[in-house]
Amino acid sequence: MVPMPETMRRQGLPFVEGLRCRECARSYPAEALHVCEWCFGPLEVVYDYEAIAASVSRERIAAGPKSIWRYADLLPAGPEGAVDLGAGFTPLLRADHLAAELGLSELWLKNDTVNPTGSFKDRVVSVALTRARELGFKVAACASTGNLANAVAAHAARAGMRSVVFIPADLELPKVVTTAVFGGTLVALEGNYDDVNRLCAELASEYPTWAFVNVNVRSYYAEGSKTLAFEVAEQLGWRAPDHVVIPVASGSQLTKVAKGFRELSKVGLIDGEPRVRISGAQADGCAPVAQAFEAGASFVRPVKPSGIAKSLAIGNPADGAYALEEVRKSGGAVASVSDAEVIEGIRLLARTEGIFAETAGGVTIGVLAKLAASGVVKPNEKVVALITGNGLKTVDAVASQCQPTATIEPTLEAFQAAGVADWQA
Ligand SMILES: *Cc1c(COP(=O)(O)O)cnc(C)c1O
Ligand SMILES: [Zn+2]
Repeated sequence: MVPMPETMRRQGLPFVEGLRCRECARSYPAEALHVCEWCFGPLEVVYDYEAIAASVSRERIAAGPKSIWRYADLLPAGPEGAVDLGAGFTPLLRADHLAAELGLSELWLKNDTVNPTGSFKDRVVSVALTRARELGFKVAACASTGNLANAVAAHAARAGMRSVVFIPADLELPKVVTTAVFGGTLVALEGNYDDVNRLCAELASEYPTWAFVNVNVRSYYAEGSKTLAFEVAEQLGWRAPDHVVIPVASGSQLTKVAKGFRELSKVGLIDGEPRVRISGAQADGCAPVAQAFEAGASFVRPVKPSGIAKSLAIGNPADGAYALEEVRKSGGAVASVSDAEVIEGIRLLARTEGIFAETAGGVTIGVLAKLAASGVVKPNEKVVALITGNGLKTVDAVASQCQPTATIEPTLEAFQAAGVADWQA
């Protein structure tokens, strides 16, 4: 292997050794690179885990900020000069009501709906733009299914960077408004996410000073998802759970959460080798990874997305094959649910635990219910479901089913006649 250059140490990232191709293992410096020039494989950040182990401790982390930056030693950017709106360190809530409905004994919900722009994408964008600034990029850009657009536009505003965000034109109105409000350039394309992504890959080489967070700085962006694993373990008292259910779009989040648990063990923050089963959740309208899992295939055949779970609508998932590998290796599964089940998942979560999730959360809960019913998720496991986005962004999905119980005259007689409090014996 080519030895790593010393440049990183000078750039203030003492634990980053460089980048490495996931396919052929060739080494590269930790610069603005994302694909291997030999085999076009994706590049992944490589750390000096021995050095990290000698430096990190549970106490030092506990004394850090209440955000993803408490884990800066295991991230490829910052913490000095971080582009930070406070992403991460979201609540991990024990969900006994929902567990009882699903026949589980110990269920936890990682509530990422409360991130600064209402989704887990704030984690990955905070890391990506911090690294982008360190590398000298001037403009923040992305190809988005919605939540990434929010996160990039907001973090760019915070950093004083220009942003250029690309979305499919059929996106939910709230996601359009909550991106445009930050004042950057927002371009709606007449096509689906895969068309948007293709154009952005082309633009990334045309505009070399633009950091497309999920294209040309994807290697750094992806690392931000590991913080979900770090937080879950810390919030469980530095123990890994038995099973985690994760929604899948590109498959990056799932792949990196699995990596995150392994890293905690490598640097000694959790004892022993964690055995975390990982399961993936998709919607029937865009389930290429679930279909590959069912078929026993090791590659993912692209599909044309449809349905209400737009934040997960990636028909040609960049990390689909890696996500499949993690799921199979861990003994989990990838399953999909119908739009009706997505809506039922949103409502079940809301009425049992008081969390209003967007369609991706409905996908996760719907698939969790399915896997619990089929015995893949076992009744005695310590289970964590990742609730990755806020329901206020996709109100249309449930609007027709979530209306006032009654609309009446403002009088006592009208109230009592309406029969809406018959449970009050
Ligand atoms: C983007 C997104 C995901 C999945 O992300 P990938 O890393 O692309 O698989 C999950 N949930 C929500 C709400 C998202 O916006
Ligand atoms: Zn390679």
